[in-house]
Amino acid sequence: MTTRLAPVVRDNLLASTRAWLEKPPLEPFIGGSFRAARSDDRIAVIDPGTGLTLTEYTAASAQDVNDAVAAARTAFDDGRWSELDPEQRESELRLLADLLEGTTETVAQLEALDTGKTLAEARLDVDEAVAVLRYYAGWATKAEGAVYPAPRSFLATGTREPLGVCAAITPWNYPLPILMYKLAPALAFGNTFVAKPSEQTVLSTAYFAQLCAQTGIPDGVVNVVPGAGATGAALTAAEGVDKIAFTGSTRTGQSVMRAAATTTTRVSLELGGKSPQIVFADADMDAAIEGVMAGIWTNAGQVCVAGSRLLVDRRVHDEFVTELLRRTADMTSLGHGLAPGTTLGPLISAKQRDHVVTLVEKAAAEGANVQTACSLPAEDGFFVAPTLVTGVRPGQTVEQEEVFGPVLSVLPFNDEAEAIRLANGTAYGLASSVWSKDVSRVHRVARGLRAGTVWANTYGIFHPTLPFGGVKASGFGRELGSAAVDHYTELKTTVIGL
Ligand code: NDP
Repeated sequence: MTTRLAPVVRDNLLASTRAWLEKPPLEPFIGGSFRAARSDDRIAVIDPGTGLTLTEYTAASAQDVNDAVAAARTAFDDGRWSELDPEQRESELRLLADLLEGTTETVAQLEALDTGKTLAEARLDVDEAVAVLRYYAGWATKAEGAVYPAPRSFLATGTREPLGVCAAITPWNYPLPILMYKLAPALAFGNTFVAKPSEQTVLSTAYFAQLCAQTGIPDGVVNVVPGAGATGAALTAAEGVDKIAFTGSTRTGQSVMRAAATTTTRVSLELGGKSPQIVFADADMDAAIEGVMAGIWTNAGQVCVAGSRLLVDRRVHDEFVTELLRRTADMTSLGHGLAPGTTLGPLISAKQRDHVVTLVEKAAAEGANVQTACSLPAEDGFFVAPTLVTGVRPGQTVEQEEVFGPVLSVLPFNDEAEAIRLANGTAYGLASSVWSKDVSRVHRVARGLRAGTVWANTYGIFHPTLPFGGVKASGFGRELGSAAVDHYTELKTTVIGL
């Protein structure tokens, strides 16, 4: 089909991005090449900033998924990747990182167009993906084993071995970084890989598959199955998968876990959250306001660690909220992600926008006070203005459910104990933050929070060295850092009689 580009897109795209979009390789990438999907299920790729269809692709069928897993299985079993010297795997991953870095602007434009995020945010995504790839490239030569103090008549060792075929189901909010959280450690330790990107954001994963083909990474080591409706379930049900890493909603994570139980496949789940930002009256108010804003408006609130619940000391509640709204209004330029000057993009889809709007309307109907920081742009697109919901009661839907949009619920607290109780009062436990100049209080509160990550006097800091994941309904397993060694290798004990 002919690509339809709105003027705001046409005027801002590089020639390289435009050329790629004319004929994007959106077929399944299996065994080192793109091949036609065996289904009739056509899916539109939609620009969230305009609602226009950019292109279309055919969903991978269950048969395509099985072929991808079989290609990954063969590539693993014949040792073409796992039996390379670790230095060779490191060098191929470094080359891949260099190639990705060299195409940052094109990939960032594709990502901004596909997800709706601003170009500045999309560039950061590519930077992060490159950094994660480089970090795990280094790990290829650093996952050491152990010698155990067994009885002296034996020599007992522990060695790290790859798991086999790793599958990943990745979401639409950070397609490239979250792919890399899973793919980079998997490949570093000698596994092979099948990726299933969100049906809503397939472009950057396809681009990345093309880059893989330009390296010496052997055919079949990286495979991609773009699809919708049943592709993810087909991947979790496929014979021959040794590990599934999923990022998305708790409900789908539970389905993944159920499917994995029937094949005893190991699983790691990163399932989003309802993260609290706790602001005490003794905090640096300037820094806290900036941190709270970054925590909730980044990526238009479509972030698993979005700090979507502001818990603020009752004594400073009113002035904090007033200043937060003022500064939010000042910084917000709501528009197309590729338009120069845009600071906040649209949501991923009409469905997601309607979901967010419904939750806000429900909060208002239940008596909460809803304030928006700006009006909506005149253009089409799935826009939601930054929204503060004050007067929220603990337990209200907007305070409990993951909204995944630019909506901040605000609750006052009277003391430290109440702040911790409110912070822990949802099903989730992904991230949290505490803002205070009292170092003892920071430690006390951090200890009381049930969350995979606590940020203190900062928010949203990610780095390849920092393990990341959740507790409770936010899932289990840690991505990034040395924690990934446990998730992408098997520890083999060998005992030799002397
Ligand atoms: P989902 O959690 O429903 O995930 C959709 C992905 O999961 C698709 O790739 C889909 O593939 C796959 N999938 C669906 N069912 C199964 C299954 N039974 N087994 C294996 N894979 C399956 O996300 P949505 O995109 O629908 O978003 C809904 C909500 O999820 C958002 O509003 C947000 O709250 C949350 N979310 C959280 C994210 C996070 O970072 N933690 C990221 C994105 C969303 P297929 O289409 O082939 O079925």
